[in-house]
Amino acid sequence: MNVVKTALVTGSSSGIGYGIAKVLLKNGYQVVLHGIESQAQVAPLVKDLSAQGKVLGYYSVDIGNPEAIAQFCSDLAAAGINIDILVNNAGIQHVAPIQEFPVQKWDQVLAVNLSSAFHFMQHSLPHMQSQKWGRVINISSCHGIVASANKSAYVTSKHGIVGLTKVAALENATLGITCNAICPGWVLTPLVQAQIEKRAEEQGISVDQARENLLLEKQPSGSFATAEEIGEFVLFLCKPAAAQINGATLTMDGGWTAQ
Ligand code: NAD
Repeated sequence: MNVVKTALVTGSSSGIGYGIAKVLLKNGYQVVLHGIESQAQVAPLVKDLSAQGKVLGYYSVDIGNPEAIAQFCSDLAAAGINIDILVNNAGIQHVAPIQEFPVQKWDQVLAVNLSSAFHFMQHSLPHMQSQKWGRVINISSCHGIVASANKSAYVTSKHGIVGLTKVAALENATLGITCNAICPGWVLTPLVQAQIEKRAEEQGISVDQARENLLLEKQPSGSFATAEEIGEFVLFLCKPAAAQINGATLTMDGGWTAQ
């Protein structure tokens, strides 16, 4: 096993993935950064994260494409990088009623939010199995447990990843590997900010009002979780104390799914 454990955090160029990468780096893990943005676009962010700990590079890869994922994983292997902790975090959203939902968007959301996790697991599990230690942490959503209107592809992908999590947990239960799904409620990231701005425009209200309404509708705590809080939960799942947490659907939603 790597003495210092190595994590790949998909979608760590923004929002929740960035928060997860930051917490892991601060706590002595090596992290491979990833996103859809170019090297130039993320240069300041990579610099910032490199000040927290050991970054093993930033990889710009469209994970909607399985061949690109295969190439990414073989590039990592060629660089001598083995993944001990896989955090499948990258995700996208599209909001429209089913009858108006563009087919291309449906395919893209399923590919990025769900199929990518399957492909990354296929490439990463053999190393974890051979060393009898590994962590797979899938960032699902409260939309992996309950639904909201107009989010057919997203809700389907997030329910799907909860199922995939359970299968991976069972297949690897005796091998020192755990696989769990974290299900956040609202976290104020660019993905959610875009939805708030769209609502403000559609409803003719201010962005502040739209933000407040968004929380009031679903999240009993009335406040957002932070990306760092999710990072701390990921960190805990990597510790020996979490060895028996396996196949779990773990909410961090301010009470959303308790209703
Ligand atoms: P974000 O928009 O801030 O970041 C998305 C990340 O995914 C970026 O790093 C981006 O580069 C990457 N990405 C997007 N499309 C990609 C592609 N085709 N190929 C490679 N990378 C791609 O989003 P976020 O809010 O931080 O969301 C991160 C994850 O958390 C997602 O899976 C999302 O569904 C989930 N989530 C978010 C919330 C929330 O309230 N923000 C709640 C529950 C779950």
